[in-house]
Amino acid sequence: MSRKLNFAAGPCAIPLEVLEEMKENMVDYQGNGISLAEVSHRHKLYDDVHNEAISLMKELLKVPDNYSILFLGGGGTLAFTMIPMNFLTPGKTADYISSGAWAKKAIDDAKKVGKVNIVYDGKDNGYSSLPAASSVKASDDSAYFHFTSNETIGGIQWKEWPEVGDVPLICDMSSDIMSRELPVEKFAMIYGGVQKNLGPAGAAFMIIRNDLLERSPDNLTAYLNYKTHADKNAMYNTPPVFTIWGVKLFLEWVRKNGGVSGMEKLSDKKSKLIYNVLDSGDNFYKSPVEAAFRSTMNIVFRLPSEDLETQFVKEAEAEGMMFLKGHRSVGGCRASLYNGVPVSAVQTLVDFMKEFSRKNG
Ligand code: PMP
Repeated sequence: MSRKLNFAAGPCAIPLEVLEEMKENMVDYQGNGISLAEVSHRHKLYDDVHNEAISLMKELLKVPDNYSILFLGGGGTLAFTMIPMNFLTPGKTADYISSGAWAKKAIDDAKKVGKVNIVYDGKDNGYSSLPAASSVKASDDSAYFHFTSNETIGGIQWKEWPEVGDVPLICDMSSDIMSRELPVEKFAMIYGGVQKNLGPAGAAFMIIRNDLLERSPDNLTAYLNYKTHADKNAMYNTPPVFTIWGVKLFLEWVRKNGGVSGMEKLSDKKSKLIYNVLDSGDNFYKSPVEAAFRSTMNIVFRLPSEDLETQFVKEAEAEGMMFLKGHRSVGGCRASLYNGVPVSAVQTLVDFMKEFSRKNG
């Protein structure tokens, strides 16, 4: 089989080794004569997978002991609702940074639950920039401060972390978790879908400081209360077993490939390869994003015309490079370079980009 080069924004590339291991063990899980997809989630076979996935997250991200790590259904999107339900205590304000499409979804949901203050709104610059981390301030009565570390659609990424004192800092890291070193202790909660940098779609990860969990109100229904899940080690109900198995294998692959610092080096290398083409000075490709906040994960770029963009995506696809069309809300092209995308795939794309601009420039 000739594998396509996958530049999708999510679900996205998974290392071949991980897929092969899933295939190998799909029907007969490690010689036990049964598939992991058909055993009880209370059985030891699954229990080991569940706990290993959690302990790999803890080890790789250096998560301190006073945090709970959960894998839950509902994706990053359910967290947009659950975070204000659990942590926006009555009479307080939730601070949000409005940096693009994903932050706005989190904000829209929070507004339905309680009072929201928009600390920064990127509307005026078309969400192509971010504020300096040192310039943002939480409200006096802040319940928490929420931001999105990487805007998957707009291609902008925070390079430094906001400092908000004692106010709980909550971050949606759906599209850049495990791609760079992270001071987890600065955050009260980190969350996101697993389907970009951690494994196959079907779960979201939550890393929550235990004192924050004490705020979850008792009148929430069981599933919507983060404390329910933390008290049961994310086994209150049937977990997304198959996905979590994939996450465990993906994280083992991350560990074998240099851990988080290894992923950071690879992400820098891959993104520089493409940004160098965008910056080559011939003005064929353009980045709409302010240079200081360019994402290492989702590289958004424009060509001289929409016709050329359509042609670019079509010709790339014919050569096996998939999903390079930008999100329908912003247009243009986008190459997503998550952990599962090998350097060789990026090099192939770079060669194609150079050849395309030479022919059409
Ligand atoms: N936040 C960000 C930054 C995302 O990129 C996405 C999905 N692309 C989400 C949240 C929503 O995640 P999910 O699809 O898992 O609900």
